Amino acid sequence: MKTEIKAITPDSIREAKNIIEKGGVVAIPTETVYGLGGNAFDDSAVAKIFEVKGRPSDNPLIAHVHKDYDLSQIVDYEPDYAKKLRQAYPTGPLTLVYPSKNKVSPRVSCGLDTLAVRVPSHDGAQAFLRAVGIPIVAPSANISKHVSPTSAKHVLDDFDGKIPLILDGGECVGGIESTVCDCTGDVPVILRAGLITREDIANIVGDCKVYEPTFAKGEKVKSPGLLYKHYSPRCQTRLFTAEELETAVLLYQSETKAGKKVAILCEDKWSSLFQTLGAPLFNLGKEQSEMAMKLYKLLREAEEKCELLIAIEPTEKTGIMVGVLNRLQKACVSEDIKRD
Ligand code: AMP
Ligand code: MG
Repeated sequence: MKTEIKAITPDSIREAKNIIEKGGVVAIPTETVYGLGGNAFDDSAVAKIFEVKGRPSDNPLIAHVHKDYDLSQIVDYEPDYAKKLRQAYPTGPLTLVYPSKNKVSPRVSCGLDTLAVRVPSHDGAQAFLRAVGIPIVAPSANISKHVSPTSAKHVLDDFDGKIPLILDGGECVGGIESTVCDCTGDVPVILRAGLITREDIANIVGDCKVYEPTFAKGEKVKSPGLLYKHYSPRCQTRLFTAEELETAVLLYQSETKAGKKVAILCEDKWSSLFQTLGAPLFNLGKEQSEMAMKLYKLLREAEEKCELLIAIEPTEKTGIMVGVLNRLQKACVSEDIKRD
């Protein structure tokens, strides 16, 4: 199969719509990362997404809809606080998990009685979603466990020859996946941190908790995606905190001396230190939103250029950095969480 990259135009949207209506999958841009989209009502399209990504079969998908879509078609109940959140963020990097049974293909939520829904703000995504008029499940358009894609080229690198069409909407400005917020209980609970923070949500609805699974055997994990290694470059990785900078420097020196191609990923404040050592550098920058936007792009560049990536955790750990740090930590773990 030939994979084509096409700019978003009425023609390419029509082509994407045709593919979706025939049960196929198409890569689409969003403001967070690129997604691999298929018809949420179509069992075999959903199955195809899991297959082409190699995604574990118990990791549910997010349904994406345009901003005037009638939610009651796919969710059973919407608590008042979720309505407030939707009013505050009619579009954007916020996924809300609702009670929902038998509304879309059972494969979407992997048998859970809930459905995660997002309304992306990206103009191209909106145009596509409006044209198809149905909910589109769209996990990040990367091979499972690999770094999420923030450009059409990243998608091609993972799926060349495996999908027919990538709609090119430019580089993603958000850079990390949406905040996933459970809206099935009395208060919202963040299941996955993102660009909309716990504080943002609490400011709107008065309260917001953060889900912290213990991963003990037998515990029912609310968001199965949390169990998996994720976002990982195809080189070796080691992650250090800023307090462990000296150890990181020693590791850089010893591994370089042993002949390994080693690079550093860090925020701007440490860049001159590593530059004086002559280290190839992937600089996350200074601003928090800049770090979110650059993280996946730099992880993908790093895997092309080094055998070992030494990453230094950004020092700021609040606000959107909770999400950035979570992705960086998951990118640098070696395995899925084992529960027995
Ligand atoms: P991705 O599509 O790769 O961005 O991942 C989607 C994320 O949303 C994963 O962490 C899933 O576990 C989570 N998710 C999707 N649907 C649900 C749901 N019904 N309940 C809880 N978490 C969900
Ligand atoms: Mg993903």
